[in-house]
Amino acid sequence: MKHLLFFGSLLMLTHAASAQTAKPDKSKITLVIHGGAGTIRKANMTPEREKAYQDALGEALRTGYRILQNGGTSLDAVEAAVRVMEDSPLFNAGKGAVFTHEGKNEMDAAIMDGSSLKAGSVAGVSVIKNPISTARKVMENSEHVMLVGRGAEQFAQQQGMEIVDPAYFYTENRYQQLQRAMEEDKVKLDHSAPPVPKKEPKSPSPSEGLGEAKKFGTVGAVALDQYGNLAAATSTGGMTNKRWNRVGDAPIIGAGTYANNQTCAVSATGHGEYFIRSVVAYDISALMEYKGLPVQKAAEEVVMKKLVTRGGEGGVIALDRNGNVAMPFNSEGMYRGFVKSDGRPQVFIYK
Ligand code: ASP
Repeated sequence: MKHLLFFGSLLMLTHAASAQTAKPDKSKITLVIHGGAGTIRKANMTPEREKAYQDALGEALRTGYRILQNGGTSLDAVEAAVRVMEDSPLFNAGKGAVFTHEGKNEMDAAIMDGSSLKAGSVAGVSVIKNPISTARKVMENSEHVMLVGRGAEQFAQQQGMEIVDPAYFYTENRYQQLQRAMEEDKVKLDHSAPPVPKKEPKSPSPSEGLGEAKKFGTVGAVALDQYGNLAAATSTGGMTNKRWNRVGDAPIIGAGTYANNQTCAVSATGHGEYFIRSVVAYDISALMEYKGLPVQKAAEEVVMKKLVTRGGEGGVIALDRNGNVAMPFNSEGMYRGFVKSDGRPQVFIYK
């Protein structure tokens, strides 16, 4: 018995030691990104616009890949990739964030480290140039997970984050989107007489009534580094015409963002309310943890079945510790792409 115990602990010791000194493995480095899901149709796209998105996604992938390739961590890679998209007016995050009903830009972001299960997030911030970097500071330099509004902005300032005038986030395109979204609301009010029942009442499509808000332009990244660590990051302006300091799923750990080395890293985009109620990102991880599903199956189960039944439009990117990638979405399109150890970025937009 004693011998058995001795050998048992010896085994455990060697195992622990080998885990710590496990050789970095560059062959599995992977970065996956998304730039939002929604009503993205080829018919509504000009070749120039399509190319602009491909270029921006490609730049985000190359930026993150360089970090992974040079021995950087998955956390560094997801933060850097998301920053590229935050700085691009094409995406609904940072510069390019959508407008609230009051004509403001209120952003949410979150980051999670799969090796420590530490996480940080900010919500409803209006003056922080790169919300994702502040989310990381929350994770690393505060004892909290989530900071909101003014307090989050004060914290960002204290941490030396770049603070900008709210006007920095103004883009004409997004402002026009708000005007159209508000008009659609008005149109609905104009037709607010009791609806005439149809013969066969059709169940509402997931995004019915959302109008302009149907384009979910949130950005996100998940990565696996050569040390075997997973990380996830998501950043968004939320939904056009949102009110009352509405917060979406992106900054809520387990809903829009989650990472766990034992299972997967997930970043979501879509109609946040549904993603919060279905705890989407954690649900995918839980299916892997408790049911042993592979990442593709787990992500499809949640996005293509559960969310569809519940009416939640959108998609996710998910990555497991072996570098397996899943990118399911139940909307018409999702800006997405990945790069693996060969360093060749691959970008997709439609189904
Ligand atoms: N999920 C985001 C939210 O609900 C929107 C998006 O994906 O664009 O705030």
